[in-house]
Amino acid sequence: MSELDLILLGPPGAGKGTQASLLTEDFGVPHIATGNMLRAAREAQTELGKLATGYMDRGALVPDEVIIAMILERLSGDDARDGFLLDGFPRTIEQADALSGELDGHGRRLTAALLIDAPDDIVVARISGRRISPTSGRVYHIDFDPPKTAGRCDVDGSELVQRDDDRAETVRKRLEVYHAQTEPLIAYYEERGLLWRFDGTLPPEQVHGHIRAALTTLRLEESL
Ligand code: ADP
Ligand code: AMP
Repeated sequence: MSELDLILLGPPGAGKGTQASLLTEDFGVPHIATGNMLRAAREAQTELGKLATGYMDRGALVPDEVIIAMILERLSGDDARDGFLLDGFPRTIEQADALSGELDGHGRRLTAALLIDAPDDIVVARISGRRISPTSGRVYHIDFDPPKTAGRCDVDGSELVQRDDDRAETVRKRLEVYHAQTEPLIAYYEERGLLWRFDGTLPPEQVHGHIRAALTTLRLEESL
C-alpha cells in the first residue's frame, strides 16, 4: 500500500474536521488537527496553551515558529510515519515550506492537498451552529447534524459547548485571516500539481464520497 501524506485546506467551517473523522476511518491515517492540539494545550494550561490563547481568542494565527515546532514534533511520532491527514496546517506559505522541507528530509513527499471550498455566507451559518464535545472532540451542528439528545454528545454524553472563537465577531476576523494568509496556499499547491478541489457546500456524505473516490484513485495510481 502506498503511503498517504495529506493536508486538508479550506476556510474555517468548511467541514475539514467533519471529513477528517470519516477519512481517518477509511484510510487508517492519523487525524492531526492543529486547532484541536492547541485547545488541548490550553485546557491543560501548558506554556504553549497559555501563549496560544490570546491569538485564538482574537481570531489571529499563532506565530509560525510556534506552530511549526509543534507540528514537526507531532509528525515525528510513530503513528505518523506511514501517513497522516493534517487539518488546519499549513495556514501560511512559511508553514507550507516548513512541511515540505521536513518531508523532503525524510525522502517523503505530500500526496495531495485536499481543498474543501465554501463561500463565506455558508461557513458563517455553519460556524454559528457548531457545537463540540470538549471530551470526545465530536463536532455537531444544531440544525445540520444535531446530537440524538439536545445538548449532549452521542459518544460520551458530555455537555456540548460552543467554541470561544465561534462568536460572530471572531468568525469575521478568522475569515479575513483565511483570505489574506491561507488562501494563497491554493495557488501554491496548484503550481506543484498537488491540489484537489471539492465542493464543500454539498451534504457531508457527498463530500466524503468525492474525497474517498479521489484518494482511492490516487493511491491506485501511486502503487502502479
Ligand atoms: P472546519 O473543521 O473546516 O472548521 P467543521 O468540520 O467543524 O469545519 O464543520 C463546521 C460546522 O459545519 C460543524 O457544525 C459541522 O457539523 C457542520 N458541517 C460540516 N460539514 C457540513 C456539510 N457538508 N453540510 C452542512 N454542515 C456541515
Ligand atoms: P481551527 O480549530 O483549525 O479553526 O483553529 C483554531 C485557531 O487555532 C485558529 O484560529 C488559530 O488561532 C489557531 N491555529 C490553528 N492552526 C493554526 C496554524 N496552522 N497556524 C496558526 N494558528 C493556528
